[in-house]
Amino acid sequence: MSLVELRNVSKIYRLGEEEIRALDDVSLDIESGEFISIIGPSGSGKSTLMHILGCLDSPTSGTIRLDGTMIEKATARELAGIRNRKIGFVFQFFNLLPKLNVVQNVELPMIYSGIPSKERRERAMASLEAVGLANRAKHRPSQLSGGQQQRAAIARALVNSPRLVFADEPTGNLDSHTGEAILQLFRKLSTEGRTIVLVTHDPEIAAVTPRRIEIRDGKIAVKIDLALAGLDRVKPVATAGVPPS
Ligand code: ADP
Ligand code: MG
Repeated sequence: MSLVELRNVSKIYRLGEEEIRALDDVSLDIESGEFISIIGPSGSGKSTLMHILGCLDSPTSGTIRLDGTMIEKATARELAGIRNRKIGFVFQFFNLLPKLNVVQNVELPMIYSGIPSKERRERAMASLEAVGLANRAKHRPSQLSGGQQQRAAIARALVNSPRLVFADEPTGNLDSHTGEAILQLFRKLSTEGRTIVLVTHDPEIAAVTPRRIEIRDGKIAVKIDLALAGLDRVKPVATAGVPPS
């Protein structure tokens, strides 16, 4: 059984008379341990797909099974538990709480899962250590650079040891040098066995992942069109034993 099984998922937004088919009959499997990118132009349905994969939103039709659980049959409480324990999210604009310091931000997911304060602090510090930010634990987000804020957000995404990490344009708000460092961090997490899904419009970012899925107008392209995806213009990277997709 795959870690994620999406079957015939469509998402339709209705705005007055207009109907927007953001996802159109999408089926997709993600295996445990995969490092995968979802690539496509702005408006193609990437964020909608990520929100459905991450149980932040539900499809108009179709099914999703995550780590053995049929999501549409789960109660709201079960869903909140799945999101909290099994999934970590990283967003383009970091989404850190400005009034909390870095280590308090990283502790947040553990507060929701009821972990005692001493253990929370220890695990938050270990997570900050893992992203190279332990020396900024007491800083407020506004006192950090963009790259450091994204490291803090990644530490927060990892702190409950989720099986799956989703990152929506995680380098979109960073300069290219800092973005590269954040990608290196995802690569390291991948080699440690995490399942990582990177959502991006940028072919240079998609080029770092062994598997890529191209989405166009809410549909998954049957085969990646290298030229359309812009991937013909980027240098291939070593993908350690993974056959090209
Ligand atoms: P991407 O992340 O690839 O830029 P999105 O998934 O955000 O694309 O959007 C896909 C399509 O769905 C776009 O046409 C967008 O305008 C539309 N859309 C996204 N969210 C909503 C919403 N909440 N209400 C109405 N339309 C939406
Ligand atoms: Mg988006």
